[in-house]
Amino acid sequence: MSKKKSELEYSARNCWDVYASTADRKAVDARAEAYVRFLSTCKTERETVEHLLDAAKRSGFSETLSPKSKAYAKAQRGKTLLLARRGKRPLSEGFRLIGAHVDTPRIDLKQHPLYEDSDLGLMKTHYYGGIRKYQWMARELALHGVVVKKDGTLVNIVVGEAPSDPVLTITDLLPHLAQKQVEQKVGDAFDAEKLNAVVGHEPAINKKDAGDDTKAKGRVKRRVLELLHARYGITEADLFSAELQLVPAGPARSVGLDGSMIGGYGHDDRSCVFAAFEALMEEKTPEHTQLVLFWDKEEIGSEGATGAQSLFFEYALEEIIEAWSPGTRLSQVFERGMAISADVNAAVDPDHLDVFEKMNAAYMGYGPCFNKFTGHRGKVGANDAHPEFIAFLRNILDEAGVPWQMAELGKVDLGGGGTVAKFLAVYGMDVIDMGPAVLSMHSPFEVLSKVDMHATVMAFRAFLKS
Ligand code: MN
Ligand code: MN
Repeated sequence: MSKKKSELEYSARNCWDVYASTADRKAVDARAEAYVRFLSTCKTERETVEHLLDAAKRSGFSETLSPKSKAYAKAQRGKTLLLARRGKRPLSEGFRLIGAHVDTPRIDLKQHPLYEDSDLGLMKTHYYGGIRKYQWMARELALHGVVVKKDGTLVNIVVGEAPSDPVLTITDLLPHLAQKQVEQKVGDAFDAEKLNAVVGHEPAINKKDAGDDTKAKGRVKRRVLELLHARYGITEADLFSAELQLVPAGPARSVGLDGSMIGGYGHDDRSCVFAAFEALMEEKTPEHTQLVLFWDKEEIGSEGATGAQSLFFEYALEEIIEAWSPGTRLSQVFERGMAISADVNAAVDPDHLDVFEKMNAAYMGYGPCFNKFTGHRGKVGANDAHPEFIAFLRNILDEAGVPWQMAELGKVDLGGGGTVAKFLAVYGMDVIDMGPAVLSMHSPFEVLSKVDMHATVMAFRAFLKS
């Protein structure tokens, strides 16, 4: 018997049509609201890990592991988090892992940041991850991070989020005086050493009767230090042992006259972090052990003790095997594991159609995209997912009625990118990149479709329960 045209030919399904019922639309909106709250609160890796660890503990995850425990949480230096829920089957039959990253491109403060010039207080910065520098100028920025004092006290810093709080900003050149700059290439026109944040203007008061020199320079800088000391009890030297980040100030919000999208800072990759966490919370009785991993440092190559190239995951899995499936070989567990490297893809931008190959591009509203491979120029640096694994995933998503799409990042030879997938693949497990498409990726205001967020959670649920 011959197949019908609709069975022979493939066409992606639009999530707005798939989730057209009143009940589904309600679920899409509720999901989006929860996500907007999450995205508005969690702007650094530490804030995200702390928030999710608290939420996991409230749902029965414990930081102590025993042969009887069912759900385990292990954080690494406040910046990486592993959540594990025990499945019905032993670990010798593998696991279902979703890994996403909690770090986001931003502007970090240098270790010796504060100075005064032209009667302004300023702070020097060193950007983190791939940013287009001009997007971070002439806009409201908030300061988030931690300062650790010599006695080990950790001070959490957040300036610029409360409506009554002042914000910081990096100034930009006025068009009237930009004639030379506009003739430069974009790559040359914006100098990283000029990304200095304006943090003060009012001078400290010099008291004559206290012996102060009323004409002394550096009073604006001193006033900033006085304010930091009053608010946080820190001194200039304490900034040496600090991780302070300038991020877009203010909450995420709906975008479009129809409010169908979400605009905000850090969809890459907190949309996948949120979706993986939601999926884990909603699939409580798994066949296989569920692992959800949130890594730091993906945006700078997954380096360091908190990145995906660290041995954190290996160490944690060893502990879990010892508690839940003693005597099982670590390598066997790895080899039978299945993983989704949950990360965003670039959505087709109608203003820049020339950089996409339209048959293999990701579109807003068509659900999470599989990326069989990442890398650049002939797949260099890619994990290349096995077709057997893709067939398995296609089947579970289609069975669960979840819309999805297949895409790669942009035209061949135009650029490219990498994810944590290849660092998981070395263990021999099956792994593929998957996540929703976003517009304006790595900008201070990335845009995501509300239906794609919902579809991504549904896809991750189907995987975690498989
Ligand atoms: Mn990413
Ligand atoms: Mn990224």
